[in-house]
Amino acid sequence: MRHRIAVVGSGPAGLTFARVLHRHGHPVAVLERDPAPDARPPGGTLDLHEGLGQRALDKAGLLTEFQALSRPEGQAMRILDADGTVLRDWRPRPNDRANPEIDRGQLRDLLLGPLDVQWGRGVTQVVPGTRDGAVVHFADGRQEAFDLVVGADGAWSRVRPAVSPVTPHYTGVTFVETSLDDVDTRHPGLARLIGDGSVAAYGVNRALVAQRNSGGHVKVYAQFRAPLDWHTHLDLADAEAVRASLLAVFDGWAAPVLDLLRHGTAFVHRPLYVLPVSHTWTHVPGVTLLGDAAHLMPPLGAGANLAMLEGAELAESIATGRGDLDEAVRAFEEQMWARAGRWAELTAAGLERLVSPDPAEALALFDQVQPS
Ligand SMILES: Cc1cc2nc3c(=O)[nH]c(=O)nc-3n(C[C@H](O)[C@H](O)[C@H](O)COP(=O)(O)OP(=O)(O)OC[C@H]3O[C@@H](n4cnc5c(N)ncnc54)[C@H](O)[C@@H]3O)c2cc1C
Repeated sequence: MRHRIAVVGSGPAGLTFARVLHRHGHPVAVLERDPAPDARPPGGTLDLHEGLGQRALDKAGLLTEFQALSRPEGQAMRILDADGTVLRDWRPRPNDRANPEIDRGQLRDLLLGPLDVQWGRGVTQVVPGTRDGAVVHFADGRQEAFDLVVGADGAWSRVRPAVSPVTPHYTGVTFVETSLDDVDTRHPGLARLIGDGSVAAYGVNRALVAQRNSGGHVKVYAQFRAPLDWHTHLDLADAEAVRASLLAVFDGWAAPVLDLLRHGTAFVHRPLYVLPVSHTWTHVPGVTLLGDAAHLMPPLGAGANLAMLEGAELAESIATGRGDLDEAVRAFEEQMWARAGRWAELTAAGLERLVSPDPAEALALFDQVQPS
């Protein structure tokens, strides 16, 4: 008998899970709160690691298409100090495909392919059954029962309370995101500064990072340590007020670096929250979690990669198992917890070094992960 399976969320975790199950011929209901795939801006570029995100795409049969879309040159990385002095200027070798970049929107469309997502189906809670399976409650008051509900609904998961009482906590680091469009034509000086990939400038307890996306679009992240209420004097919808406030935070930095903020368009406030390192739970039959819902960690290039590999592995475990759904989920959870715990530790330590009282820490970390 085929199991009735639902995944809540159509981010990298949920879509990879659904796509790999689909490849194995297993039906799955993809339940997504957004009313349409393009209801929100998809966000910045993602680097997909050979052993993580790319492995997941391989399991989905999508590696060749990814290679055609992705930008290996986007791996380039330039490190500056607050004075604008170039400290490192790293470029990938011509055939380096270790961590090529892809726009999130392109990745989403690649994964969506033939999937029939149920858009506009916000989930409010999931109630595990007394014996097996779980009931999904929707925002419109409806309910539906499944043999397995997979929570891939991100940081503020509505599925998570079915297995764990833990909620995310603030790291003490805030990102404010802004964007530049058509950078090569409108801001050629900044285009040269950013190069083909990313530029990051590090100062005391703050950093400015800019990442090139496709089509001349650039995402800029102002990163700094601050209390959660640092913006109470500000109207976050007032772009000029936010810009002035950020320019004050980065006061004294080199003019070309500050131009990243001066020319940015809208500003999006992103305080960084995390789940505790090594978050696990007592197995609950009929419900599990993937990706940020399971192990929200600082955005140091691992979250989407882990989310995708977990999605692919859970799907494979179900599709190739001996039909015991609960056994397949249990085996997957053990594997996920062990790997995610290691990455959560690494990224938590990484955040401490990248937004640090001693900017030399950021450079030392770069040299450790990207030796010349
Ligand atoms: C600034 C920034 C930069 C990052 N850069 C990188 C990077 O370079 N590389 C990398 O690997 N990771 C990166 N990450 C982390 C990465 O974005 C996340 O780890 C990844 O998106 C997690 O995927 P997910 O599918 O688990 O969750 P999400 O991407 O959050 O997707 C969750 C989905 O669930 C839906 N949803 C939410 N609630 C409900 C509900 N109640 N009912 C139905 N649907 C719901 C949402 O609409 C969404 O579609 C970055 C994160 C940030 C903030």
